[in-house]
Amino acid sequence: MQLARKSLQFSQLPLQDIVIGDAGEAVKLTLDLKPLRRVSWPYRLLGCAVMTLCLVLCLNGRSPQAQALNIEAGSWTGASFPVENFQAYTSPFGFRNSPTGGRGYEFHSGLDIAAPEGSYIRSWWGGTLVEVINDQGCGVGLVIESGDWEHIYCHLAGQVQTIQGRPTLVDRRGGIQVSQGQAIPSAARIGRVGMSGRTTGPHLHWGLRYGDRWVDPALVLRAMHRDR
Ligand SMILES: [Zn+2]
Repeated sequence: MQLARKSLQFSQLPLQDIVIGDAGEAVKLTLDLKPLRRVSWPYRLLGCAVMTLCLVLCLNGRSPQAQALNIEAGSWTGASFPVENFQAYTSPFGFRNSPTGGRGYEFHSGLDIAAPEGSYIRSWWGGTLVEVINDQGCGVGLVIESGDWEHIYCHLAGQVQTIQGRPTLVDRRGGIQVSQGQAIPSAARIGRVGMSGRTTGPHLHWGLRYGDRWVDPALVLRAMHRDR
């Protein structure tokens, strides 16, 4: 897996241009712990709670703007639009009302791209297939790792089977079989639009993660369009 990470075509993307603004900025926590030695348990617990809260606030306090990736500065000529037979963007990245009515307000971690059932899905970038998903939300899905990026594809057609000990997406009608650990070239057909998981119609849910953060795929698509 490590080898595959190194051999990615990802060198095409000038990573030095991707700047996580204030991520490296030192956060000073000045807490005088001496009085804690003499205080009773309720106060100790209160102290711990305050420290935890401080840590949480410090970690979360870094705003999305400060952390924003410099997507505009990247070179995206090696990227592929992730689905054939594009119809429409049906749900953007960000907070939204639940499309299935469930819990109401929720965070939508990707971009929904409608396409007729059976349309081929293409890998956005070359990388390694690190996870074959089979759950209630995503349904049948794939996670591809490309350097510090992960791209996620949900609601695919086909089934997940274990072949030679490796989770594998098998879509016989589409002529697709991809196994966990496999290298995937950019723009390779990796699956087809299906109806698996939590979905109200055929579409690709496409997610992008950089490091441990979700990135709005629309920003990347805009930069890709610019570089065409
Ligand atoms: Zn979605």
